[in-house]
Amino acid sequence: MQQYVIALDQGTTSSRAVIFDEQARIVAMKSYEFEQIYPQPGWVEHDPAAILNTQVDALREVVRISGVPLEAIAAIGITNQRETTLLWDRKTGRPLYNAIVWQCRRTAPIIRRLCDEGMEPYIRETTGLVPDAYFSGSKLSWLLDHLDLHERAERGEICFGTVDSYLAWNLISGRPHVTDATNASRTMLFDIHKNTWDDALLRALNIPRAVLPDVVDSSGVIGMLDPAILGRAIPVAALAGDQHSALFGQGCFESGMMKNTYGTGCFLLMNTGDAPAKSQNGLVSTIAWRIGGKCTYALEGSVFVAGAAIQWLRDEMKLIERASETETIARSLADNGGVYMVPTFTGLGAPYWDMYSRGTIIGLTRGTGRAHIVRAALESIAYQSADLVFAMASDCGQKPRELRVDGGASANQFLMQFQADVLGCRVIRPSVIETTALGAALLAGLAVGVWRDMDAIRRVWQMDLSLTPQMDEAQREAVLGGWHKAVQRSMRWAEEDRA
Ligand code: ADP
Repeated sequence: MQQYVIALDQGTTSSRAVIFDEQARIVAMKSYEFEQIYPQPGWVEHDPAAILNTQVDALREVVRISGVPLEAIAAIGITNQRETTLLWDRKTGRPLYNAIVWQCRRTAPIIRRLCDEGMEPYIRETTGLVPDAYFSGSKLSWLLDHLDLHERAERGEICFGTVDSYLAWNLISGRPHVTDATNASRTMLFDIHKNTWDDALLRALNIPRAVLPDVVDSSGVIGMLDPAILGRAIPVAALAGDQHSALFGQGCFESGMMKNTYGTGCFLLMNTGDAPAKSQNGLVSTIAWRIGGKCTYALEGSVFVAGAAIQWLRDEMKLIERASETETIARSLADNGGVYMVPTFTGLGAPYWDMYSRGTIIGLTRGTGRAHIVRAALESIAYQSADLVFAMASDCGQKPRELRVDGGASANQFLMQFQADVLGCRVIRPSVIETTALGAALLAGLAVGVWRDMDAIRRVWQMDLSLTPQMDEAQREAVLGGWHKAVQRSMRWAEEDRA
């Protein structure tokens, strides 16, 4: 009998459920959006009940529309928006506050205090992260203070969890309080070398150990789905943060392999093998996954404005009607005509880290037209990603061999070819673009024997598109040179303004 695996992909704007067959093909998919709550400028929250209800609805509905018999579902894997922080009552399971979403900046003062106390080098060394309000630690600290919960927390009456924990608690019989190593590595409370919660960081943020979940493997049976949900107990056999799951779903199992997700922003992760890499370029180190107690590590970097630059062309500049038009427009030119766009609307991330950089379009002449601006916006996505790839390559002393791609903008074949051109390496797009969900399904299927081992997974992983570089070395150097010059011109702009 054909076996199936379900992935629950709990994202920032929607909860989705995807059923895969043994060939790792999508059989059915369902997703529900939920509300984003903005109580104050810079604050972002989700209603925990909305997260849970949309996820359960998506699970029930995907099973219904697929027609797959419940007995044929071998396992369920969970992947989730990372860093988002929840707190609930251990006895009743009732959430004590809205989920504080990863984007929320309310705890920036806590991070400033840690840096003032000289904690930055320790945080980098222990957790692999740069101190930031983005990660869960300061959010948890804020919640305990704000709700005055320290005594109850010490007594073990309160549970902290990221979204994976919260779903595991609510979906699995016996209510296990767990998280997996990838999600733990995004809390800024976890020692990624020793694989344990770190006492010094817990002390610095005044967090009692009793609130923390047990840390489990990313692939392994945690427990059985509560039969009240689907009418049958099914093993829940994987937990992993979304980007980590996508790296796995992209089949990046060996050191040096990397994937880039082209969405609103870009997320680039590179497998660095069984030791965390120390970045000289402002990238973070993170646990890629933990299987059989053994950690694989990754370097991570992100581009803040990628597809968002295309949205800007469409919604603000009115240069295009649809994102997909950009491909034909860019192809109408033989080259970029010396025009570059640096879309640093919110500052510049790795490897430059200049929060005062502002967007610029440069190299304009009387001959510059709409197509040049559109092409420059597309090219900027590839250049920013290339800067991250080069930074990772230099951090691990390896030349990039290939880049695996996914996300909405990876549909743009001009962009993907240009990416291969400026990187000077192959760009590969898989046949399943839902790599986040696929990763969770593969991790779960691996735990219950749907796929016997990594080789079995390699055999089902399928490529859709492979692009090799077409640009000669001189041309590559010329465009990268132009880009880097443009980046320099964008830097410190807002700072100069202030002075
Ligand atoms: P997210 O998950 O961040 O919402 P998606 O993976 O759905 O993003 O991708 C959507 C983004 O990709 C949008 O910012 C959109 O502008 C961009 N995009 C979608 N299709 C194309 C395309 N064909 N060419 C260029 N950009 C595109």
